[in-house]
Amino acid sequence: MMNATAADIETLKAAIRDVPDFPKPGIMFKDITPLLNDTALFGRAVKLLAEPYKGRGITKVIGMEARGFIFAAPVALELGAGFTPVRKKGKLPYKTVSVTYDLEYGQDTLQIHEDALAPGEKVLIVDDVLATGGTARGVCGLVEKLGGKVEAVAMLIELGFLNGRGRLSGYPVESLIKY
Ligand code: AMP
Repeated sequence: MMNATAADIETLKAAIRDVPDFPKPGIMFKDITPLLNDTALFGRAVKLLAEPYKGRGITKVIGMEARGFIFAAPVALELGAGFTPVRKKGKLPYKTVSVTYDLEYGQDTLQIHEDALAPGEKVLIVDDVLATGGTARGVCGLVEKLGGKVEAVAMLIELGFLNGRGRLSGYPVESLIKY
C-alpha cells in the first residue's frame, strides 16, 4: 500500500483543478498543473508514487506520452531505475514495437523501442490519470511483447467510475487519489 496519510491525499486533491467540458462536452478534465506548479506538492506526489515499489527489483519505469512522462521520470530516479518512454505512433526514432487499442471512439497506436527492455525485466508503468484503462492495458501489452514483466501500474489519479481496474485485471494497480 502507498503510505499516504489522509491529509496528504486531501492536500494533493486540493491542487487538482476540475475543468468541465474539456477536451469535449461531458468530460470533466483533471488538470494537474496547479499541483506541478508547487514544488512541495510535486515532490510529495513523486515520493508517494514511488514508495511502495522500493526494493522490489524494478529496473524500468515506463511513462506514456505526454503527462505520464512528468511523473514516470522522477519516479524512475527515485527507484534507481531507467526511464522508458511509450509514445504515439511515428514519434520514436529507432525500431519500434506497436500495440493498437480501442478508445471510446476509434483506435490508437502506441510504440516502444524494441531494445527498451531486456527479457525478464521488472517494469513499473506510471501515468497521471487512470480513466478507462485502455492506454495502460495497451502499455502492458507492449511490455509483454518485449518479454518484460509488469510489476505494477501506478497512477496519480483514478476515475473509479470508469472501471479502469476491470480492464487491467491480472495486473496490480495502485492509485493515490480516487474519484
Ligand atoms: P484511458 O481511458 O485510461 O486510456 O485514459 C487515456 C488517457 O487520457 C490517460 O493517459 C489520461 O491521462 C487521460 N485522461 C482520461 N480522462 C481524463 C480526465 N478526465 N482528466 C484528465 N486526463 C484524462
